[in-house]
Amino acid sequence: MQYANSVLDLIGNTPLVRLGRTLDLPGSDSGDIAGGPLVLAKVEYLNPGGSVKDRIATRMIEAAEASGELQPGGTIVEPTSGNTGVGLAMVAQQKGYRCVFVCPDKVSVDKRNVLKAYGAEVVVCPTAVAPEHPDSYYNVSDRLASQPGAWKPNQYANPHNPRSHYETTGPEIWAQTEGRITHFVCGMGTGGTISGVGRYLKEQNPDVQVIGADPAGSVYSGGTGRPYLVEGVGEDFWPDTYDRTVADRVIEVSDADSFAFTRRLAREEALLVGGSCGMAAWAARQVAQELAEEGRTDAVVVVLLPDSGRGYLTKIFNDEWLAQYGFATGAQADHRTVGEV
Ligand code: PMP
Repeated sequence: MQYANSVLDLIGNTPLVRLGRTLDLPGSDSGDIAGGPLVLAKVEYLNPGGSVKDRIATRMIEAAEASGELQPGGTIVEPTSGNTGVGLAMVAQQKGYRCVFVCPDKVSVDKRNVLKAYGAEVVVCPTAVAPEHPDSYYNVSDRLASQPGAWKPNQYANPHNPRSHYETTGPEIWAQTEGRITHFVCGMGTGGTISGVGRYLKEQNPDVQVIGADPAGSVYSGGTGRPYLVEGVGEDFWPDTYDRTVADRVIEVSDADSFAFTRRLAREEALLVGGSCGMAAWAARQVAQELAEEGRTDAVVVVLLPDSGRGYLTKIFNDEWLAQYGFATGAQADHRTVGEV
């Protein structure tokens, strides 16, 4: 019989799939790209919690168990509502820890409900109070994290975040490409993925080019932290988990390009992925087009796609939402009502 003992054993070992039409390389219309580089997407939504963050959740929790920071019956407290929360909630549930997430009230009810569905508790804080107010997001999470038995993973400073990618994601990509990878493209939030994978790949072959993709406005591409809409990537500060020496190049991507390309991935590659995936894949397409012009048919580009598009159906995949922010909604599915058919 073939089975896993727990969903935790299903984390990692995600597949690579070749990108075709969306690269707009000569021949890509027919799906037969002659003379272009091979571009492979690492599909992280196939992790059991639905994102790349399952990897860091497991590694951070196991390290805290080993160091004694997290004791049996302990409580995990983290100010997050996104993919890291889901990963932590899933691992905590399997290992018997309590999980409390603190999030601002602007976080959607759907996102809070996902965490609750795994058995986690969600504390919602008002956005409209000053940071020094006792009910503020910062004060509530600090107060909860200082209770006896509580442990805060702190994904922005925890070295086990990049380490999980150094130990799993990087070696997987190296083995899956049989050491033939020439370029690695990846978005940056905490910077854990690019730092861990990039370091591992460069240790195997210093010629591997590591390319960050970054929303226009974020500090990684020289911005000042001005707002952008793509979620999970870009920062207005430099996290400890980001290794500033690892990226050879950072490609700045606009929200408009990120969202349009996210829609293309669903419509043309049947990859229903999130906005940071569209952003990273847009950067990979740019790299592939440059390589094609240089005649680098030997190049193997791997782009990491962190999560699924299911969490963005009311945003990126919703024409009204896109239009509200002034983004193009062209080339989309006909959305006809029954009377019009
Ligand atoms: N995309 C999404 C959707 C994410 O949630 C994150 C994590 N914040 C990233 C990309 C970036 O990954 P990392 O934190 O490892 O840089």
